[in-house]
Amino acid sequence: DQELEDETDDELVARPPVVTVMGHVDHGKTALLDAIRNAKVAAGEAGGITQHIGAYQVITEHEGIERAITFIDTPGHEAFTAMRARGAQVTDIAILVVAADDGIMPQTIEALNHAQAANVPIVVAVNKIDKPGANPQKVRQQLTEFGLVAEEYGGDVMFVDVSAKQGTGIQEVLNAVLLTADAGLDMRANPDKDARGVAIEARLDKGRGAVATVLIQSGTLNVGDSIVAGTAYGRVRAMADENGVPVLAATPSRAVQVQGLSSVPRAGDTFLVIQEDRTARQIAEKREAAERNALLAKARKRISLEDFTRALEEGKVESLNLIIKGDVSGAVEALEESLLKIEVDDSVQLRIIHRGVGAVTESDVNLATVDNAIIIGFNVRPDTKARERAAREGVDVRFYSVIYNALEDIENSLKGMLKPEFEEVQSGVAEIREVFSSSKFGNVAGVIVRSGVITRNAKARVIRNGVVVGDNLGIESLRRFKDDVTEVRTDFECGIGLGKFNDIQIGDEIETIEMKEKPRV
Ligand code: GDP
Repeated sequence: DQELEDETDDELVARPPVVTVMGHVDHGKTALLDAIRNAKVAAGEAGGITQHIGAYQVITEHEGIERAITFIDTPGHEAFTAMRARGAQVTDIAILVVAADDGIMPQTIEALNHAQAANVPIVVAVNKIDKPGANPQKVRQQLTEFGLVAEEYGGDVMFVDVSAKQGTGIQEVLNAVLLTADAGLDMRANPDKDARGVAIEARLDKGRGAVATVLIQSGTLNVGDSIVAGTAYGRVRAMADENGVPVLAATPSRAVQVQGLSSVPRAGDTFLVIQEDRTARQIAEKREAAERNALLAKARKRISLEDFTRALEEGKVESLNLIIKGDVSGAVEALEESLLKIEVDDSVQLRIIHRGVGAVTESDVNLATVDNAIIIGFNVRPDTKARERAAREGVDVRFYSVIYNALEDIENSLKGMLKPEFEEVQSGVAEIREVFSSSKFGNVAGVIVRSGVITRNAKARVIRNGVVVGDNLGIESLRRFKDDVTEVRTDFECGIGLGKFNDIQIGDEIETIEMKEKPRV
């Protein structure tokens, strides 16, 4: 919008809306994107071969006028949040796909949380209505609870029944997108200036070098322009659209694949045209150095619950944002309900920006970085990618297995008390590679230690697919070959017996826990 302020009204021209398709896995995001594309390929344009460049544009007749819509065709909200994590907002409207035979599922909620957090209006495509078990009205009812109230029920969200498979309802989806755009969004940009936008996909091509799909957000990008995209730079040697057709000039909301960059930018990197080649290179190099420094600084600065408390006290923030993940929906709901009952004075606010069942994922961590949130894991753990990303971004991920403890921490924090003096520290993680039955010890896990140290006197936990299946277990035996040992370090193999706890499987993780005094910051 800063962009718009720089422009006078008569320089601004209507541009097509940019749409992302989100929803639960298998609900038909890809099928819908394909159906839209297939229904709308204009005969004249299909000169080249269909390319998946990360976006495509369709032309549709709406209220007697030809209108274009740009679709980002990497479905899912991971891409959406990853871009937002870089500060890029490319999406004007999100289409939330919900299978009518399945109803809302965890990722449906996750997707709508992400869209709502980004203030992106939603159109709901109720898909698979051709199926015998389809219940499109139920989907409408279910989503009401999440603030998406269908127009027919007095709300302002457009729901469209579709069958991506049979190609029905596709035109209605396009109409709904345009009506939603026209209802509340200022979709204009100035095409008569140097281009700016966002890289939405990029890769290294064997023959062509770095290729990046960029979405033009304002101005016009021409072949021959010198650009910087993130830390990549170069002259645009050639551009092509999603039909493989060469493009000489790309206007706002158009996505084109460009060749000529020095390296591969990341999805979400912004790009802009720079007059001088040399300046472009200098900017790219400065950015690269700045990025390195920022990474270093971030590694030092951790966003912890304690930091939040302090910031709340100092009046620097007004809300404590939380993401709750748990092993079962009952626990998540119970935790959420209890958290929302905490009484605090009016100046602070507790916001639960996302909740869900299952392991803490990279997408949760991304959302936490974007919206400055703390992640609460109740009987769940982060997957490897999430763990790495949380460490890199300094996101506070706190684990609890007792609701009361979580409540106490959050309550103390909101009331400005920086308490917990002891905290659980994960001392080691081992992966189960084999399970042996022993008459003496019951089931014994043959493991390899993946990180830290497994010690004989630590408490252990068993985690399966990110969910805790056994907690507070004693290590009854710890052996390397035939020897009893007191500790085993990273990359070594050993046998772990968990006493009476026998529910272990290949692929589970055994995590060991110690209580450590918390360093006072
Ligand atoms: P995504 O994971 O959300 O991208 O889902 P896909 O588009 O891959 O679809 C998942 C499955 O549902 C595939 O087997 C599709 O053929 C099927 N599917 C998608 N849309 C429809 C539909 O409208 N009707 C029926 N019967 N099946 C569909």
